[in-house]
Amino acid sequence: MSKEINLLYYWDSDNLEKWSAIFREKAPDINLIDKDNCNPDEVDVALVWLPPNGFLKQFNNLKGVINLGQGVDHLLKPGIVPEKLPIIRLVDNDMSKQMSAWVSLQVLRETRFLDKYMQFEKEKKWQSVEFIPSNKWNIGVLGIGAIGKHVALSLANFGYNVLGWSRNEKNIEGMTCYYGESGLYKMLPECKILVCILPLTQETKHIISKKTMPYLPDGSTIINAGRGGHVNENDLLDMIEIGKIKNAYLDVFETEPLPSDHIFWSHQKINVWPHISAETNTETSIDQIVHAARCLMDNTEPPNQINRSKGY
Ligand code: NDP
Repeated sequence: MSKEINLLYYWDSDNLEKWSAIFREKAPDINLIDKDNCNPDEVDVALVWLPPNGFLKQFNNLKGVINLGQGVDHLLKPGIVPEKLPIIRLVDNDMSKQMSAWVSLQVLRETRFLDKYMQFEKEKKWQSVEFIPSNKWNIGVLGIGAIGKHVALSLANFGYNVLGWSRNEKNIEGMTCYYGESGLYKMLPECKILVCILPLTQETKHIISKKTMPYLPDGSTIINAGRGGHVNENDLLDMIEIGKIKNAYLDVFETEPLPSDHIFWSHQKINVWPHISAETNTETSIDQIVHAARCLMDNTEPPNQINRSKGY
């Protein structure tokens, strides 16, 4: 029988009961502890989403932090997770599937002219738009890791011509792979649609900016499901203004929730989504959370540990 583990839960308290029930069923040795009702010295491991600066410092016996999502940029900001502690992220295939569906939704809307056909239907017009075969659409995917690779291959499965970009050299059947800065500038002129599923790091901040967007073909589309910090919002507005970018589908923003007076809400060419393209699923992620917590308790290295110097 494994040792009992006191697992602190820091997220939306509405979800606490849902998580508690699943831990009771799957891992009765783990006590899920409410952040507002705990003895800090008794906490062994923390399970968190967006904890505030300084919050984790009070737990003197903490052995590690498990992130309730795949992106860890928030946890790597100074003061959030004490330096000595390991950070573990989720890598859940269900999240890859959700993201593939969301990106496909935007790509299909664009390439199958959904908005035009909805308008024709409203006007009771039996009319078609000139057909463009899938393999004539070149779609670039920035970030072809756990999620991005799944997205890229799902798009390739529709018949699109897919290009992928990573930090290290890769060779993935079904897409043309590019890597590094020089690879980025070789890939961009090919991409009529550019999808971003990168982690946010010092190197990837504002990767979609007035430095890179001019390399895209005129009238390109941007789809961002990485982090808001990947897109320089003012540069995007400027590029839409001059027609370099035709439209943008955005799930993530520099400030979230997107402020009600933000220009993106009412912009004709920007489609706003409330950071929902891939959400944490209790049922599909519980086993890896339990495994990570037990590894941390046993002083063995859990899978999916973040490399702080790389930033993901
Ligand atoms: P991974 O760590 O598995 O993959 C990251 C990919 O980005 C890798 O291909 C990596 O290259 C590449 N990359 C990182 N830095 C660079 C760089 N400087 N230059 C070129 N390529 C780079 O991450 P996931 O696929 O699990 O997640 C990606 C991101 O998706 C998360 O960090 C998060 O920001 C976002 N996300 C958004 C969600 C949403 O709801 N909107 C939900 C879940 C995640 P290499 O393979 O060479 O290391």
